[in-house]
Amino acid sequence: MFTLITLPYASLEPVISDRTLSFHHGKHLNGYVNTLNSLVAGTPFEGKSLEEIISGAPAGPVFNNAGQILNHNLYFLQFAPVPSSQAPTGRLLARIQQQWGTLEAFQAEFEAKGTGLFGSGWVWLAAKADGELCILQCPGADNPVAHGLRPILTFDVWEHAYYLDHQNLRAAHLKALWQIIDWKVVEERYTK
Ligand code: MN
Repeated sequence: MFTLITLPYASLEPVISDRTLSFHHGKHLNGYVNTLNSLVAGTPFEGKSLEEIISGAPAGPVFNNAGQILNHNLYFLQFAPVPSSQAPTGRLLARIQQQWGTLEAFQAEFEAKGTGLFGSGWVWLAAKADGELCILQCPGADNPVAHGLRPILTFDVWEHAYYLDHQNLRAAHLKALWQIIDWKVVEERYTK
């Protein structure tokens, strides 16, 4: 049985309103959890991890709901109302600087690729086995795990992530998200 993650914070205001957070976590993510549990019951996917399901399921509802749970878990757990680290350090910072020149240049490309993704989906920072980083634009529930890559950082660009707060202004929402990214969590995903 998959369960809804508990958020390690009560509020992310003013960057994400409490109303958006409540719907996004309590309705959207909870819906994916309940749907996946009913879809996998009595199938070979029952008892498998999200990663195993994502790597093995054909395109369709099982893949989509498992993907959306994994994606949202990574999304919600990378935030903190007061981040313990507001910029990457160490190996992750060095790799970003090697590939993009500066953190700001990376952030600008990440925001642009999130803003430019047509329709619903996710923009990801992902790592290859040798540590090389890449930015992925993934439609729907797609994610780096489905492509053999390690997920490091993600922005949800489905309208449900921002429409109550910003209506159509996706770019404004994405720019504000950096304020609540806890880079310590992101760095741990890269260096683990
Ligand atoms: Mn979402």
